[in-house]
Amino acid sequence: MQIQNLRKSFGNLEVLKDINFEVNKGEVICIIGPSGSGKSTLLRCLNLLEEPDEGNILFNVSEKDEAVTEEWDLTSPDTDLNKLRTKIGMVFQSFNLFDNKNVIDNCTLGQLKVLDRSKEEAEDLAKDLLDQVGMSDFLYAPVSSLSGGQKQRVAISRALAMQPDIMLFDEPTSALDPEMVGDVLNVMRKLANSGMTMVVVTHEMEFAREVADRVVFMDDGYILEQGNPENIFTKPNHKRTQEFLRRVL
Ligand code: ATP
Ligand code: MG
Repeated sequence: MQIQNLRKSFGNLEVLKDINFEVNKGEVICIIGPSGSGKSTLLRCLNLLEEPDEGNILFNVSEKDEAVTEEWDLTSPDTDLNKLRTKIGMVFQSFNLFDNKNVIDNCTLGQLKVLDRSKEEAEDLAKDLLDQVGMSDFLYAPVSSLSGGQKQRVAISRALAMQPDIMLFDEPTSALDPEMVGDVLNVMRKLANSGMTMVVVTHEMEFAREVADRVVFMDDGYILEQGNPENIFTKPNHKRTQEFLRRVL
């Protein structure tokens, strides 16, 4: 995915000011930076939950035949949002599950409605994914009865059930009780090791340091610097990055 000259304002407030970066297949990118710097807005622009004002997002989507890819400019007016959302999975801080439905229904709904899979096929995949995140014992539990960490693992399975090409995470652990954070980070670590392409906005610096291939530091609507975790965490170039890291590490 290539993000070129991306800009976004809310009224007079310019939140993204000429953002340029790329996400390579299989890469794990962690976005860090102060509150209000535009991290969530950037992530939301990547799957068009926010419409960019300017710029391009070029995305190589895989077709059913994995060998074939097609380059899309997501910002073009004829982008099929339903198709886009199957190719780009997103996990939010606040889970965004259907609380009144059970775990497995949350993980099959999109597959049935958008991908036209059979109920059996959808359930088989959902069960497999829920097993991988340690949620097999909760298939028929209402989501409202789960802990935050359990909800987040269901939310990850739900996104993966669409078999996306890339997964976006917006602070997936910041609403969780501390003892739940590890379980969710472990699931994400496993996913990263499996080769999934991931863009993760996070305050978990340990995770970023250990799992990211590249760390992107955002400040006031700009990407101030990016590089491998070792460089960003031990010898950042910018004073702003140094100050931020001094505060959070
Ligand atoms: P945090 O670390 O607190 O989550 P962030 O880096 O994710 O911060 P954003 O949520 O992208 O920051 O917000 C960037 C700026 O844009 C903030 O000043 C915010 O108030 C503003 N903003 C975000 N969404 C909207 C919106 N829908 N309407 C108006 N202003 C918005
Ligand atoms: Mg945010």
